[in-house]
Amino acid sequence: MSLLPHRADLLRTQNFINARWCDAMDGRTLLVEDPATAQPFASVPDSSAADAAAALSAASSALPAWRRTAPRARAAVLKRWHALLLSNQEDLARLISREQGKPLVESRAEVAYAASYVEWFAEEAAHLHGDVIPTPHARRRMTAEWEPVGVVAVITPWNFPAAMIARKLAPALAAGCTVVAKPAEDTPLTALALVRLAEEAGLPAGVINMVVCSRERAHLVVDLWLRDERVRKLSFTGSTAVGQHLARESATTLKRLSLELGGNAPFLVFEDADIGAAVDGLMAAKFRNGGQTCVSPNRIFVHRSVHNDFVNQLLPRVQQLKVAPATDPSAQIGPMINDRAIAKITSHVTDAVANGAQLLLGGHRSGHPAGGHFFDPTVLVQVTSTMACSCEETFGPVAAISVFDTEDQVLEAANATPFGLAAYFYSQDIARCWRVSDALEAGIVGINAGALASEAAPFGGIKASGYGREGSRHGLVDYLQMKFRCQDA
Ligand code: NAP
Repeated sequence: MSLLPHRADLLRTQNFINARWCDAMDGRTLLVEDPATAQPFASVPDSSAADAAAALSAASSALPAWRRTAPRARAAVLKRWHALLLSNQEDLARLISREQGKPLVESRAEVAYAASYVEWFAEEAAHLHGDVIPTPHARRRMTAEWEPVGVVAVITPWNFPAAMIARKLAPALAAGCTVVAKPAEDTPLTALALVRLAEEAGLPAGVINMVVCSRERAHLVVDLWLRDERVRKLSFTGSTAVGQHLARESATTLKRLSLELGGNAPFLVFEDADIGAAVDGLMAAKFRNGGQTCVSPNRIFVHRSVHNDFVNQLLPRVQQLKVAPATDPSAQIGPMINDRAIAKITSHVTDAVANGAQLLLGGHRSGHPAGGHFFDPTVLVQVTSTMACSCEETFGPVAAISVFDTEDQVLEAANATPFGLAAYFYSQDIARCWRVSDALEAGIVGINAGALASEAAPFGGIKASGYGREGSRHGLVDYLQMKFRCQDA
């Protein structure tokens, strides 16, 4: 089965600048690789600062008209885009699976999830209210009104090639901002297809501009945007190290920042938990996208009294996961994104075993005939806090389990990380549910729930996981600034 889209015009392989599809000005190209085999299957521009500058000029020129467009008119474009995302769901899903590798069933769900943000922000655009402030003087009128921040630079990672960019573009457009965007080098095609559909939805020229480049040239493209005063906001999803670099580089122009960064999610199973539900929750949260998610449980803590029961229920479920390319309709774990990902996962497992963890399942490359980037779903027990898999995101299908004895002990361990994106716990004691959710240092807490993301909810982290929220009404406010208007009669 081919994973290329049926609609040929959705396979875009050029930059999109000022409503024109174009190559990099210096003609350089970048190969997009099949994640399973590392074999190239498409070629896109490897852009430079000149392309970034053209994109920024277009976004800057388009801003005055777009920000004046009535919110309902902006919402109408977003609604048409939403409809097009859903009517092309299968083609977009194929593209996601083709370049990112996740099973088709997950790619279809990702398209629906991405589209849900577009619909949500179309609705939010038309329902944005400011304040009328009670006046201290009879002849004075005071209001506080929202206005768009201006041109926004958007930079996204490869693990959710549709959703990560949709949940930035949708609120930016709804707010009246224009955009310059750079998708990840591994997954540019889905982002370009999304832009093609936005074009079809009637988005005016220059409102979205997308520039594709290699990892080596990312700094050429992005630094230009960071240092230019016309870019008023940066919205980034990716690793903490790159987020810190971008925050430093954009400091001289004092941009608004939304940074959705790395995680190191704890998953706690208390002695009073419904163990079957906890296993279901872990399977949903841990193995989606082969563990390549920022909210993937990275450190699993199980109370000593239920540890064996939990592990005994978990093992057969993990053993049954089907590792296969997305062309196999029964695939549940696809390839990891690239060699660096495989090397990191392997090193985490090796380090854990060398330091006393016990490997119950997996622990190595799958040796799959479809390519060298498949990794067997893995279960480790007797994991400790100093092992690499406890200190950093593994970003792979590895369940790393530790035991604990008391609530205080496990809360201290769960919070003993610089990161604070997601945290999960399972307990049927209602008082504990309040206590533990209060104490967990995370922007997102799942209580007896493994799948948490929703367009209606604020997604984002604290501590080294960044700041800013995506989704919900808060996701729109991130793209707005407040103007206080004061008038004397
Ligand atoms: P990454 O290396 O930080 O890359 C993210 C984006 O930044 C990519 O577009 C990348 O381009 C670009 N980039 C890299 N170096 C850059 C530089 N010097 N200047 C400008 N741009 C640069 O992250 P990743 O490995 O792709 O993604 C995985 C990370 O993202 C994990 O840490 C994960 O937890 C995090 N994540 C967080 C969330 C969230 O919502 N909090 C969601 C998903 C993922 P290239 O692709 O060309 O390198």
